[in-house]
Amino acid sequence: MRRFAAVVVILTLLLPSTLFGADQAPLVGYSPRSSQTEREWETKFRAIPDPANLREDMRRLSARPHHVGSPYDKDNAEWILARFKEWGLDAHIETFNVLFPTPKLRVLEMVEPTKFTAKLEEPAVAADPTSNQKSEQLPTYNAYSPDGDVTAPLVFVNYGLPEDYEKLERLGVSVKGSIVIAKYYQSWRGVKPKVAAEHGAIGCLIYSEPQDDGYTRDVVFPQGPMRNPDGVQRGSVMDFASASPGDPLTPGVGATPDAKRLSREEAKSLAKIPVLPISYGDAQPLLAALKGPMAPNEWRGTLPIPYHVGPGPAKIHLKLEFNWDIKPVNDVIVKIPGNEAPDEWIIRGNHHDAWVNGAEDPVSGTSPLLEEARALGTLLKQGWKPRRTIIYAAWDGEEPMLLGSTEWVEAHADELRQHAAVYINTDGNDRGLFQMGGSHSLEQFINGVARDIEDPESKMSVWERAHLSAIANAKGDDRKEVRQRADLRIEALGSGTDFTGFLDHIGIASMNLGYGGEDEQGIYHSIYDDFYWYTHFSDTDFVYGRALAQTIGTSVMRLADAEVLPYDFVDFADTVRKYTKDLQKLLADKQEEIRERNHELDEGVFRATFDPRRPTVAPSREEVPPHLNFAPLENAVEMLTKSAERYQKALAQKQSGLGDMQAETLRALNAKLIDSERKLTNDDGLPRRPWYKHLLYAPGIYSGYGVKTIPSVREGIEQKRYTEADTEITRVAKALEAESALIDAAAQSLEH
Ligand SMILES: [Zn+2]
Repeated sequence: MRRFAAVVVILTLLLPSTLFGADQAPLVGYSPRSSQTEREWETKFRAIPDPANLREDMRRLSARPHHVGSPYDKDNAEWILARFKEWGLDAHIETFNVLFPTPKLRVLEMVEPTKFTAKLEEPAVAADPTSNQKSEQLPTYNAYSPDGDVTAPLVFVNYGLPEDYEKLERLGVSVKGSIVIAKYYQSWRGVKPKVAAEHGAIGCLIYSEPQDDGYTRDVVFPQGPMRNPDGVQRGSVMDFASASPGDPLTPGVGATPDAKRLSREEAKSLAKIPVLPISYGDAQPLLAALKGPMAPNEWRGTLPIPYHVGPGPAKIHLKLEFNWDIKPVNDVIVKIPGNEAPDEWIIRGNHHDAWVNGAEDPVSGTSPLLEEARALGTLLKQGWKPRRTIIYAAWDGEEPMLLGSTEWVEAHADELRQHAAVYINTDGNDRGLFQMGGSHSLEQFINGVARDIEDPESKMSVWERAHLSAIANAKGDDRKEVRQRADLRIEALGSGTDFTGFLDHIGIASMNLGYGGEDEQGIYHSIYDDFYWYTHFSDTDFVYGRALAQTIGTSVMRLADAEVLPYDFVDFADTVRKYTKDLQKLLADKQEEIRERNHELDEGVFRATFDPRRPTVAPSREEVPPHLNFAPLENAVEMLTKSAERYQKALAQKQSGLGDMQAETLRALNAKLIDSERKLTNDDGLPRRPWYKHLLYAPGIYSGYGVKTIPSVREGIEQKRYTEADTEITRVAKALEAESALIDAAAQSLEH
């Protein structure tokens, strides 16, 4: 191991400078001289992260179950704190007290037409040494399900999305008074009980279908990486997208000891009906006992049964009781004070809590974070002085629904509004391509970083590999765009991990980054996500862990040291233009779809295709959606594009003079740039969910993790609130106009 590590270090020292680093143009936001100094420090940084350390850190952090409130969760926080201090960093733990339910009683049985009692248990497997830590493992459950005791007929609802219920309606099946069983995936899990409750269901089961992460895809654990018949996906079902993430009892404020708390009855984010996750071993007998219409083709999985939808004759008894305890979450926070601009903050985080041992989720991201901190500590000792303040955070309580990061953001909201420039998140790491998501003012920046990182497998830059792979996967006109556009497009951020409070609540430009895509995995949130699994089936030699530490560390340093914060608004404006076109297409498609359906009803298509032996219900006639006035948005995009181009030109022309700019002028310019993401927020927030203040990005009410871009307009159209969509177009346009004015002002200060 030592020998291997030494070879690796030498390669890292040579490759980035010779292959990608040396004779490049100065970094954006840097004068030529400071750019050169920065590149030298970054090269030193990238030589430090060591796969052997990543492996040992993972072994230590995932050695025992470490969910919120468990002894090893606290132990890990203290161990992380000690490491930070050992590396000479100023670190402390911040504790919040949050509602965290754990199971007291779980009963799932079929009472008709035959009797069956679900096992609800993931057995230890001999090959896997931590799978037998039974006394410390959380049972399989969904956190924030209410207590409940219900008995009712079962209905299979596919993934449990709103469109699945439309299909059920066409089949003449209602879930009113039933317990539904939905497959995992295709939406965030909390959406499933939410939509089920909205349709009158009184209970919800969610199972892992082998087609999605079981034997259909690859060999099951422990011989392979996939979910075995007893594997269960734990997870939160908090309705965070309609209310807010974080502690359900203290929305909008930090869950400090003296915070005013809601009662559980007042809390808006708890699930409405009892919900329980199960394995396909437990699901199969229940599904096999269903009769009624055959499930539509695309609903059927790969269990060896015919998939019927019900309702019944399978009748299910589901009884759940929880301990509704208040538990501590311990965030470990490091502060490296900035030398010249201490009031401008670059923040980087990954969580440390897990559902069980959590080697992949989250430790494969926590270990690189530790290696970055160690490397930054080393550079500080060698004389590196970051211009801005850097904050490192190992969050607790991410799994139940972003508890540690959200409470920290809410507790520090005023400071963050004033000082926070960028938040960089990771949440685990695997083997494969570099995956970039984030605020589009950072698109050019992160593309630049990716060009300087070597891919461990192909030895090309991770950018080049992602670029070529995007060409391979693109279709039609998109392929031409991928070839010609200077930067790869980055994904907009939805939710599901710790950037949510930073981006959606405060309006801090954020990124979520990681490597992955080459390995299948079926251990998510089970007892089998552990050191044995990760070191057999994922980034087994930790070279992608090292690449992640190199990527994020380089990003943090480059953001912290630039004279002018390296935001770019040309890619941003281009993206907003694209989103505007997407909205216009969404409306036009919807109008066309409804017009066509009404036409078919008039023609008698549904009467003609009716099969009396397999009866279906014709869809109902709908009003064709009205035209909306997109002009304010289109005009705002034009303005934004002009301002963005002006700023980009001004910054490029000023580049050689950046080093001579007055400290006060730079400070004022950076303050404007920091404000550029805040300008995209509105204090009143989104309709019916005021905690979400960003007008361009939000998790979808009915997708959860999945982003809705320009959410109030998009969801207005999707949910048929056309008047609201029209008003929201104007509100978003106003924010974009204010953004243009800010960018113009920034450009002006460079032009003088
Ligand atoms: Zn995670």
